[in-house]
Amino acid sequence: MSVHDTFNQYVLPTYGRFPLIPEKAEGSWLWDDQGNKFLDFCTGIAVCSIGHCHPRLITAIQEQAGKLMHCSNLYEIPKQAELAKIIVEDFVKIPGKIFFSNSGAEANEGLIKLARKFGNAKPSTDGSPRHEVITFRNSFHGRTMATLTATGQDSIQEGFAPILPGINYALYNDLESVRAQITNKTAAILLEPIQGEGGIFSATAEFLNGLAELCKEHDLLLMFDEVQAGFGRLGNDMAWRAIAPDVQPDALSWAKGLGGGFPIGAFWVNDKDIDDGITLSSQLGPRTHGSTYGGSPLACAAALAVLAEIKEAKLNDNVIAREQQIRAALSEWNHPAILELRGKGLMLGFALNASAIKTSQGVTPALALVLKLTEKGMLTVPAGAETLRWLPALNVSEQDVAFALTLLKEALDELTA
Ligand code: PLP
Repeated sequence: MSVHDTFNQYVLPTYGRFPLIPEKAEGSWLWDDQGNKFLDFCTGIAVCSIGHCHPRLITAIQEQAGKLMHCSNLYEIPKQAELAKIIVEDFVKIPGKIFFSNSGAEANEGLIKLARKFGNAKPSTDGSPRHEVITFRNSFHGRTMATLTATGQDSIQEGFAPILPGINYALYNDLESVRAQITNKTAAILLEPIQGEGGIFSATAEFLNGLAELCKEHDLLLMFDEVQAGFGRLGNDMAWRAIAPDVQPDALSWAKGLGGGFPIGAFWVNDKDIDDGITLSSQLGPRTHGSTYGGSPLACAAALAVLAEIKEAKLNDNVIAREQQIRAALSEWNHPAILELRGKGLMLGFALNASAIKTSQGVTPALALVLKLTEKGMLTVPAGAETLRWLPALNVSEQDVAFALTLLKEALDELTA
């Protein structure tokens, strides 16, 4: 039975999959089972942050796997403590505490639970707990019941009613629409500094600063979902800081690039005082939250290797230089099929001119371009119907970016000819 037929018979058909069977990968390159080589600008959707099979990551995983792979969170796991300290001290740089999960959706579940706890500790004026969270249209926060509710896209919620009560949606980059959603039950605002799955739309500095002001005014938590954009992807250790460096968030979530391919998620909670010596981070105390696997010795060893590489190889600098290289090429081309390049760092969305791109029936312009690039030996991802997304490894070389640009230009020329 072929892989394709085995999939059809035994795996739930939840994904639209490309007919490509990956076999091995190294750095920014991936090979399929036929020996075809692809320049990988998908990276498992922003996961393989230091490239595929980085020697440092392999060594860290192998050494830890041979020593202690898993033990319960009933014990003090040294690598978990070390990773939490590095994230707080060297990356967030604001006093706070970390909880480790296995995925982005789980990390966001933690943020939503934190908002509820906070709303209990600081109730509304009538004494009832505040439980509402404002999220945004076009956002993406995950596929669990709470996070698909937080996700402001009808297509993702369809068929799963009743969804979680208490999530209200505002318009991204529109402060007035946020203000209109604030009630005496609102406890928090949750958003992506750059909307990823929704099509690569960046928040403006003005919007994030305005949200911080609103949160102060109404005693709300400001929570950033950095699952896709965190840890260097925007050319800064923290995604929100790449956009609005003066904002002080109350909580942050991550996953994807943190483990470089090994599953790990995390969320951070500010140690700030919320009430006369009571800290926000103390709201998630003993027995309020947990995970069997979260923060295992193996996952933490992997993340420690990734974060050390991000710092020591100065990957933020490479991300900024590669973004400049891409933007310079695009302004030189002035290609009729590209309307604009959205996003920041190496989380980039090419907004396509749908009327300029030839597609066959039922194929969106973004999908047509992804398929054309795959044919040419490059892996990319659509973000919505009319945006091509590039998420290369943070250490992608200048030569590989130059090659990617050549392939993109060829593909665009062929699709518009
Ligand atoms: N939040 C954001 C911003 C994401 O992009 C994603 C995944 O694409 C998630 C949350 C969900 O992460 P996971 O698939 O690890 O649950």
